[in-house]
Amino acid sequence: MKVLVSVKRVLDYNVKVRVNADGSGVDVANVKMSMNPFDEIAVEEAVRLKEAGVATEVIAVSAGVAQAQDTLRTALAIGADRAILIEANIDLQPLAVAKLLKALVDKEQPQLVILGKQAVDDDSNQTGQMLAALASLPQATFASKITIKNGTATVGREVDGGAETLSLTLPAVVTTDLRLNEPRYVTLPNIMKAKKKPLETLKPEDLGVDVTPRLKTLKVIEPPQRSAGVKVQDVKTLVEKLKTEAKVV
Ligand code: AMP
Repeated sequence: MKVLVSVKRVLDYNVKVRVNADGSGVDVANVKMSMNPFDEIAVEEAVRLKEAGVATEVIAVSAGVAQAQDTLRTALAIGADRAILIEANIDLQPLAVAKLLKALVDKEQPQLVILGKQAVDDDSNQTGQMLAALASLPQATFASKITIKNGTATVGREVDGGAETLSLTLPAVVTTDLRLNEPRYVTLPNIMKAKKKPLETLKPEDLGVDVTPRLKTLKVIEPPQRSAGVKVQDVKTLVEKLKTEAKVV
């Protein structure tokens, strides 16, 4: 069973995000970039499936600038077998990425596609759902447990007020939630080994996909600065301030 897993290069989640001076977006020059945390979980899950003898090959794919190769090398160091970079120098929106992944699904015929539930830069939470629709595949989003048996994926997912279990006929699309697993640390020997693993580079045109952006960002602004708090002497003063100043009671 082939597993295709998508990895996005995003601003590292520990980096303090700064808005560009012209308000056109977020400043990504000279800041640390890393693999989207939900995608690390996706790669870890795919590699565990391979280690358990369920998957035979794990293919990592990333769409974006040439530096996304580093993100793919990390996926290879976690344990993916080969990688595909779909190189594009423009902003790739979820619909464009979903179309690219759909073209790869047609080409590679994986039984399972694992994506992160959302990218922490755009917070769209759209790509997996769009891919499932475009490829006419069953989907389970926000997976906290995946079991594969007899051509079926059984997926546990946390929903409001409880847990839900879905049964999907493979091939299928699954997106990961935080509780699915804890990704392993990448070791130096595995980083070295990853350098020798195959990494293919394609262009969107090679897959026949038009990635022209459909959405335009009008303006990005910093959230308002929080003002300092005050200490009050007693509950009476607190209630008074909540009524007269905060006007929340
Ligand atoms: P989003 O819909 O943008 O929140 O992203 C959801 C998931 O889609 C991410 O966690 C990735 O697994 C995948 N994805 C989105 N954009 C890309 C990209 N440029 N390259 C590879 N995977 C992506």
